[in-house]
Amino acid sequence: MAAAAKPNLAGMSLQKLEAFLAELGEKPFRARQLMKWIHQRGVIDINAMTDISKSLREKLKLVAELKLPTIVEEISSEDGSRKWILEVASGSRVEMVFIPEAGRGTLCISSQAGCSLDCSFCATGKQGFNSNLSAAEIIGQLYWVNQKLGGFKEKTERPVSNVVMMGMGEPLLNFDNVIDAVNIMMEDCAYGLSKRKVTISTSGVVPAIDKLKDYTDASLAISLHAPNDDLRSKIMPINKKYPISELIRAVKGYMASLPDKRVPVIEYTLIAGINDHRQHARDLTDLLVQLPCKINLIPFNPFSLSDYRRPSNASISNFRKILQDAGYTVTVRTTRAYDIGAACGQLTGTVQDRTRRSDRIRLKSPAVDKKAKMQDSTAILAQLADRI
Ligand code: SAH
Ligand code: SF4
Repeated sequence: MAAAAKPNLAGMSLQKLEAFLAELGEKPFRARQLMKWIHQRGVIDINAMTDISKSLREKLKLVAELKLPTIVEEISSEDGSRKWILEVASGSRVEMVFIPEAGRGTLCISSQAGCSLDCSFCATGKQGFNSNLSAAEIIGQLYWVNQKLGGFKEKTERPVSNVVMMGMGEPLLNFDNVIDAVNIMMEDCAYGLSKRKVTISTSGVVPAIDKLKDYTDASLAISLHAPNDDLRSKIMPINKKYPISELIRAVKGYMASLPDKRVPVIEYTLIAGINDHRQHARDLTDLLVQLPCKINLIPFNPFSLSDYRRPSNASISNFRKILQDAGYTVTVRTTRAYDIGAACGQLTGTVQDRTRRSDRIRLKSPAVDKKAKMQDSTAILAQLADRI
């Protein structure tokens, strides 16, 4: 029989680490010391943690492990964005993307290998689902970017100021691990990111949004993508289970629980001929009257397994203007990292699909099989030929 896995110190929140150390008869302040070694200095060799007694170090090596996912590939975009591919315990490969901008660095993190929710416009969804990432595999993405970009050096500014859980997977379907990782991101003895700069993006897992306030005060983005249930259910199957009215109720509840004034970001991917009509924009202004929010329009990023198209710039502007004229704050996300297959919705990694969805898609359209393979991270540079 295989030995049970040891608990991984890298993925423990402060609270969990304190409880773990208490079981070993240690004082709570040891937890802060350990977190500083791992998440502020980037040290993962327990022997090197010199202000921790030798006896505790020996004990920790015996009862726990300190393990992070392995980086297997790194790809840089022409626009300065960088993508790293990580191998996780399940054997799948997942992706994270770092997007540098003036005055900030945003890291887009994955929470699952694949996704079970199958939104019609999303490349990750087309891969099917393999596994949840552990808390260490999620926080390990932030750890590695700091390691790669010099963020653990003393007195240097950390390269990552913002984290968005907008990589592969639905964060709220991997609730416990995502919460632990998000809390480590915001912990001052770890990465110390502001709660306004750590954003959980969800397609609308209503029961999880309902319980979120008891676990975190991170910011929230909602992938809405349609102004009514009919259309939303067509492009996002989760809407059949949790319709828009319930979603809005849950989001309002979470926002009301936060002590500071913050609003959610409503994500709306614009797909030509599907949800980008002027009437959709007008309906959206009516729908969102009940929910103070900011709106982020994401022009659809094409990928090989989808027939959807990106709307013209004129139609994106028209849509934006209708929302702005109604008084909403609207941003249009500029497409970044498209050349390395790392723009929104393009992240696919290499996922051993357990839902068999990817097989069904390929069987239905064998002609796209070759193209689909190009999405594989190892061949992602081939997409350069495919640029818009
Ligand atoms: N599962 C979560 C987070 C990952 S998806 C969610 O759905 O919110 C991150 C964002 O990218 C979401 O807003 C998603 O709707 C959007 N997205 C997915 N596929 C896209 C595509 N092909 N083009 C543009 N945006 C896309
Ligand atoms: Fe999953 Fe989000 Fe993609 Fe939908 S958009 S399939 S929820 S990752």
